[in-house]
Amino acid sequence: MKKCEFCGKEISYFDQYCNNNCESSTKAFYKKRNRRAKLSSTLTVIALAGFGISAFMFLFGIKWASMMISACITLFGILLIIFPYATDYMIKKYTVKKSVVIMKRAGIVILALGIAFIFASVMYIFA
Ligand SMILES: [Zn+2]
Repeated sequence: MKKCEFCGKEISYFDQYCNNNCESSTKAFYKKRNRRAKLSSTLTVIALAGFGISAFMFLFGIKWASMMISACITLFGILLIIFPYATDYMIKKYTVKKSVVIMKRAGIVILALGIAFIFASVMYIFA
């Protein structure tokens, strides 16, 4: 049995979507994802590289690097919320609609974690 690519509702073998809404939403999703692919991947690489570099610095005893780590975690969370574009594998598994919700929720959790880390860093640095 086949499922709508966008919402996951069961559909006939000859269809790809359950209605026009789902079809246009899916097309809009991929269009947006393609248009922002370069920007979102560049910013993600910056956040991850920044995280790696600052974690390295922190391990070598640079105290304020904990602030950079926290900022990178926060940035990563924000990026997931602004660019909730899952991999094709995940979209196939969870549908377009659900994968966006999952990415945004993960973003909110990571953002909250980053903000908590910022407060912890402030106390750690200035303690
Ligand atoms: Zn649908």
